[in-house]
Amino acid sequence: MSAITLKGIRKSYGDLEVVHGVDLEIASGEFVVLVGPSGCGKSTLLRMIAGLEEITSGEMWIGERVVNTLSPSDRNIAMVFQDYALYPHMSVEDNMAFGLKMRNEPAAEIKRRVDDAADILKIGGFLDRRPAQLSGGQRQRVAMGRAIVRDPDAFLFDEPLSNLDAALRVEMRLEIAKLHRRMRATTVYVTHDQVEAMTLADRIVVMNAGHMEQVGRPLDLYRRPASLFVARFIGSPT
Ligand code: ADP
Ligand code: MG
Repeated sequence: MSAITLKGIRKSYGDLEVVHGVDLEIASGEFVVLVGPSGCGKSTLLRMIAGLEEITSGEMWIGERVVNTLSPSDRNIAMVFQDYALYPHMSVEDNMAFGLKMRNEPAAEIKRRVDDAADILKIGGFLDRRPAQLSGGQRQRVAMGRAIVRDPDAFLFDEPLSNLDAALRVEMRLEIAKLHRRMRATTVYVTHDQVEAMTLADRIVVMNAGHMEQVGRPLDLYRRPASLFVARFIGSPT
């Protein structure tokens, strides 16, 4: 059974359709990377999966449920953005615990989960600090920790590393790969970095102007791009 299923998903803003009927089945534990030029609809698609954006037509399934009308908090999906969106006035620990407190989880359970996630992400040493006292890479780890503690059915990443410098980007990419090997959580990851796409993805979805140009395993797209457009994005010489 697939973890996330998109059936004929369309999105319009006013008269302008920006996502033109996307069909995609994402398997449980799969790491799917969305690539494509700026404005092609990657973030819109991700936000529709998260429930942050209404679907104009089509069906969105998470597991065995149609979630079209479910609010983000009822979907059990965690989204990590490039700008972290941490609460500046809260400690690292409180940032990570916030969502669980909102769900009225018992304090001991919250502490256990925060400590586990902090351990995995190696941020246990600065749980008392505020976001402003952290480096960019550390802030990104906290944002990931906040997602992990919720034990979501799926992780959505929207260009999570694009604000980091090159060295940190490599470090965090390896961290995300390690995290995925460990947790095997269903993941949809948007990037325009072809190395991230090639190394992280089980499957890559190449988007072009609101539709899927090609879907496949990284090496298959590399060896057999369906179009010049795909070849340009995956970087194989044609
Ligand atoms: P990407 O993430 O691939 O860069 P987006 O999903 O952000 O692309 O945007 C897809 C298209 O939808 C773009 O043409 C963008 O201008 C348009 N768009 C995105 N959000 C809105 C909005 N809130 N209102 C109107 N148009 C939007
Ligand atoms: Mg975007």
